[in-house]
Amino acid sequence: MSDKRDLALSAIAPYQERPLGHFIAGRSVDVEGDSFDVLEPGTGQVLGQCGDASEKQLNEAVAAAKAAFPIWVSTPPEERKKILNRVADLITANAEKIAAVECLDAGQCWRFMSKAAIRGAENFRFFADRAPGAADGQALPSAEHLNYTTRRAIGPVGVITPWNTPFMLSTWKIAPALAAGCTVVHKPAEWSPYSARLLVEIAHEAGLPVGVFNSVNGLGETTGKRLTEHPDIKAVAFVGESSTGSAIMRQGAATLKRVHFELGGKNPVIVFDDADLDTALDAAIFMIYSLNGQRCTSSSRLIVQASIYDEFVARAVERVKKLKIGDPFDYNTEVGPLIHPRHFSKVCSYMDIARADGARIAAGGAPVDDTQGFFFQPTLFADASPAMRIAQEEIFGPVLTAMAFNDEADAIAKANDVQYGLAGYVWTRDLSRALRVSDALEAGMVWVNSDNVRHLPTPFGGVKASGIGRDGGDWSFDFYMETKNVALARGTHKPQRLGV
Ligand code: NAD
Repeated sequence: MSDKRDLALSAIAPYQERPLGHFIAGRSVDVEGDSFDVLEPGTGQVLGQCGDASEKQLNEAVAAAKAAFPIWVSTPPEERKKILNRVADLITANAEKIAAVECLDAGQCWRFMSKAAIRGAENFRFFADRAPGAADGQALPSAEHLNYTTRRAIGPVGVITPWNTPFMLSTWKIAPALAAGCTVVHKPAEWSPYSARLLVEIAHEAGLPVGVFNSVNGLGETTGKRLTEHPDIKAVAFVGESSTGSAIMRQGAATLKRVHFELGGKNPVIVFDDADLDTALDAAIFMIYSLNGQRCTSSSRLIVQASIYDEFVARAVERVKKLKIGDPFDYNTEVGPLIHPRHFSKVCSYMDIARADGARIAAGGAPVDDTQGFFFQPTLFADASPAMRIAQEEIFGPVLTAMAFNDEADAIAKANDVQYGLAGYVWTRDLSRALRVSDALEAGMVWVNSDNVRHLPTPFGGVKASGIGRDGGDWSFDFYMETKNVALARGTHKPQRLGV
């Protein structure tokens, strides 16, 4: 599979000679000031350097987005649709290269990334096709007025994305923003910046007007912070950790920033004893160990009915021990490396926490030997209880925490006993129980007898510390657009007469 790695290296070759800079007002802009190393998680090697945008460069990117807004928002939606569909076509044409770059700097496995790049194209196509209807509103007649609503893009927006599936997540936010008529300043994650550069170049090759989509690289606490504080940025769409969401809310308070947050999760998968246990096991293993465990909707808490707990967990342990860890470019690899030494240390630290809390490490529990990459063994903590930190905190690695429940009420109580509320998974053949448990789960999304299968018209997002707002379908446009109500008097309405 080294041909895929070669493909990725050739895609980032220009930025091995000089640091990766920014893309502002339709052109590549070199780094001025600080830069930082970008690492290859699979080998631990330095791939190159990436610049931290200077304040001046960030201001230039925002100014470009501001200048382009009146042009883009008044571009006929059919034209926006055409351009964004061309972006989708070009993503499809470049999917192999994009996927290879994700394997290189994010350490994600080829078997998943080849599909994720195509998903990026689908995100663009989905929102492109809806651009012509984005401004549509409602007619709300009253006795004396005809009220109608319309929507208009809010203005230049900031999009800040994480490193776990960088390309797909960026398209997920940027495509609806552009389809709505917003202009964009994107700040990709510093640990995996290369695929975002491919995206902005592709978008311009597809004919996006200058300044409509700008990309600035940099650290969260400098470039990210400045973007969220900038008065000309009207809204911030953010995907990342809950604590960063809080910081962004504070940073945006002075300029009353509209925010959309897709944050962390500690998602329960509840398995009742009447479930299709074979499929439940497949789904639970897939949802936590795919994407190297770095998935916001991962089923990181396995909550199993006591009557089948021992056997189900024993079967899970058997499967975990057989997971294929290795080179992310190898199609057979199921679990690749963690993104960065800092994240690797965080995941490692939970082994001592689990031991101190009294959980049993039934599989894994240690780094992989004889590698320079950031590989951690797929791990399963058994016999946990809800109060343990391993049952409360988002570890964001290939680490599953299992516990038993006694009855339906106990399952719901345990599932809800965390600060997060992104996704929940319920496995049972009892339809009424599935409905009751789905209603009771504190989560933005529930899958019954299924792993996470995304359907773009449906709302995606979390409750509690997992987020604010929903993406998908029309929900995305609601965030990127302002609704206006117009009331037309029918001529029968007489205002009160004062001072007569
Ligand atoms: P992170 O919060 O550390 O960083 C995300 C982005 O925010 C990066 O681009 C970073 O540079 C930037 N950032 C950091 N501090 C900032 C600040 N003060 N102001 C502005 N920007 C700042 O998250 P991460 O470690 O990159 O990603 C992992 C997290 O993302 C996990 O918690 C995961 O659950 C979450 N996530 C959520 C979803 C979802 O849909 N809910 C999807 C994917 C990932």
